[in-house]
Amino acid sequence: MIRGINPQSKPVLKQVLSIGITFGMCLPIAWAQQPNVDSIRVAVSQEDSQVELQVKGLFSIVTANTGRTLHEGRRLHRLKIQGTSQGIALGEKQLPILGIRIEPKREDTTISLNGRPLRGALEITRREDLTLRVINTVALEDYLRGVLSREAPDYWPIEALKAIAIAARTYALFQRVTKAEQDYDVTGDVMSQDYGGKTSEKAATTRAVQQTAGLILLYQGRLFPTFYHSTCGGMTEHARVMGPFDVQPLKGGVSCSLCYASPFYSWQRRLSRADIGWALHKSSYGSIGPIQDLQVTRRTPSGRAQQITITGKSRTLLLSGFEFRSLFGFDHIRSPLFSITPVEDAFVLDGHGWGHGVGLCQWGALELARRGFSAAEILVFYYRGADVVSLKDLKDQPITAIIQGGKSN
Ligand SMILES: [Zn+2]
Repeated sequence: MIRGINPQSKPVLKQVLSIGITFGMCLPIAWAQQPNVDSIRVAVSQEDSQVELQVKGLFSIVTANTGRTLHEGRRLHRLKIQGTSQGIALGEKQLPILGIRIEPKREDTTISLNGRPLRGALEITRREDLTLRVINTVALEDYLRGVLSREAPDYWPIEALKAIAIAARTYALFQRVTKAEQDYDVTGDVMSQDYGGKTSEKAATTRAVQQTAGLILLYQGRLFPTFYHSTCGGMTEHARVMGPFDVQPLKGGVSCSLCYASPFYSWQRRLSRADIGWALHKSSYGSIGPIQDLQVTRRTPSGRAQQITITGKSRTLLLSGFEFRSLFGFDHIRSPLFSITPVEDAFVLDGHGWGHGVGLCQWGALELARRGFSAAEILVFYYRGADVVSLKDLKDQPITAIIQGGKSN
């Protein structure tokens, strides 16, 4: 694995579907209430039964719903927080409330969650099953500093880093605008964008965020989900594989052999018939008997596996490329762009690229930057028809997002 490159296809299907939209008419949605686009809500911990909090510097703890001050101080040394049947326990202290908010009182205050320093404020909520959800509300630009250092190697050319910073900012803002009515905008892991918090920040990636501060991509004046990935392996993919996204800049089909230097440009995997049988047996698909055949039976126009047919002695199973990768692991089957050759007791997969292939190809962006292209030129190469716009210039207008269909709930 290359340091700093997120191995996962990102952001992946599950996250996209959670936006809560359905197929149907093409209606750009203008939200009645414009959320504050200067900050973002990141779910940094979910379903843990306890978390550990540490604070250096002036801070306060208030109740989440009323804002009543519970505690103020200048240092908190490893406080365990647990969900209980009565509410929340702060160390030994039981509180009959369901949520608290930890707010920094000064710029230099650092709040750490489970040993990880984060910028901004934290809200901890006890859920019905007594597990905790922790949401970090952080300035959008600070969030991006913690994302870019994880999503791109800091030794890459600055124009490539700036292009990825603008794509990451646009993706975050798309989530912010389309999830305004939900509890949080993004998760802090690879399901959205990998977020390392304060300690992961690096000088070069922070510089790329600062030099592009407030710059986003719009298509016909609206936000769209600027997916990006590690290595396309030859051609980018249409965003329909991620959900109902049929907009010009996400139509894919961008021929990109620019990522040839990526260590993931070509790969090979061998899956024995026994491996496949065992993986299915352990999964929710269940056993299909001894494996007789494995074939890609439908491909997307970019050549990626859209339907994979696994023939067992007792039944046949059809999986999407995403489901097939999920079955064996996204870091094992790196992309849906592969061919299958049967050999004796196994199948050999010859593949290209890493990730879903939608939007900007990071290793291609690296090569374009090396050849002297600017961040804006790199972005319009991958997101055709999009414009780089400054948020400052949009100050008086609400920001809207292009999504297809109406809200399903
Ligand atoms: Zn590429």
